[in-house]
Amino acid sequence: MAFTLPALPYTTNALEPYMSAKTFGLHYGKHHRGYVDKLNELVAGTAFETMSLEDVVRYSHTTPDTEAIFNNAAQHWNHGKFWHSMKPNGGGAIPGGLERQLIAEFGSVAAFKSEFVTQGVSLFGSGWVWLVETAGRLKILRTSNAVTPILAGHKPLLVCDVWEHAYYVDY
Ligand code: FE
Repeated sequence: MAFTLPALPYTTNALEPYMSAKTFGLHYGKHHRGYVDKLNELVAGTAFETMSLEDVVRYSHTTPDTEAIFNNAAQHWNHGKFWHSMKPNGGGAIPGGLERQLIAEFGSVAAFKSEFVTQGVSLFGSGWVWLVETAGRLKILRTSNAVTPILAGHKPLLVCDVWEHAYYVDY
């Protein structure tokens, strides 16, 4: 079964003025779609073709000579998480359990937000900044290029795309 571009959970102009419909046209319509199309092309006729996306990400990372499959599969997975990390009229209340964990780990929700932004803006080159749950604790992690925390068994809760293609049209 071929991998498919997931539907966005909102319309392409729903996050304006922060992220424009033009950015969604490029970022979702061109880049994310490009990763999916290239992935399907690369896995055709290989053992990866019938795996779940998560398994393609994991096994292509440890298999020799499958770097291009890993990059396209992981970018497909990462973007799928990213679109769901945003919503129209976002912000607002955080579920109580998560809020308590954020306060326990970072001191306050404001301190978490500040640290998340600091980690994102100081990332060198292309990559991602994540809030993950691992061994019952919350952590902020950065990954470079297509690397994704699921490789290390972390559970991603929130992600921000820090590739230039995420913001260069609007900012
Ligand atoms: Fe991106």
